[in-house]
Amino acid sequence: MGAVVSTVVSSMWNRWNWRVAARCRTTDADALFVRGAEQRQVRDFCGSCPVRTECLAYALDERVEHGVWGGMTERERRAVLRSRPDVASWAELLGEARTEHYSRSAAERTADALLDVAELHARTDTGIDVVGMAPEARRDAC
Ligand code: SF4
Repeated sequence: MGAVVSTVVSSMWNRWNWRVAARCRTTDADALFVRGAEQRQVRDFCGSCPVRTECLAYALDERVEHGVWGGMTERERRAVLRSRPDVASWAELLGEARTEHYSRSAAERTADALLDVAELHARTDTGIDVVGMAPEARRDAC
C-alpha cells in the first residue's frame, strides 16, 4: 500500500507544474540571481513560497549552479549535493519527506520541534554536538 501511495504521489509531483504557484513568478528574475548579502533577502522571500520544496528539488536534480532556488544559495546546494551523492532523485526524496511530515500527528511534530530547539541550545550553550546521535541519546543529552 505504501509503495502504491508513494508512486501516485511521485507521479503527481512529476506532472504538476509547480512554477505556476511560484511566489517569484511575477518578480524580476534577475532579483533571484544576486550575490553576497542580498542572497539573504532572496532566501527570506523564498521562505513563504508555497512551492519551495519543488523548486529546491528541481535545482538539485538539474544541478542548477546559479541563483537562489528553494531558499538555498548555490553554495548551500553544492554542500547538500556533496553530502548525499547517493540521491538519484531529489524530487522523490523531498516529496516523500514532505508526505511523511504531513502524515505525522501535530503532537509528533511539536515534539520534534521542541527537540530541535533543545538541540540548538545544547549546541550553543554546552558545546555538545548532539547532531548524529540517536533520538534517545539526543533527548538524554538535552
Ligand atoms: S522558492 Fe523557488 S519558486 Fe519559490 S520564490 Fe524562491 S526561487 Fe521562486
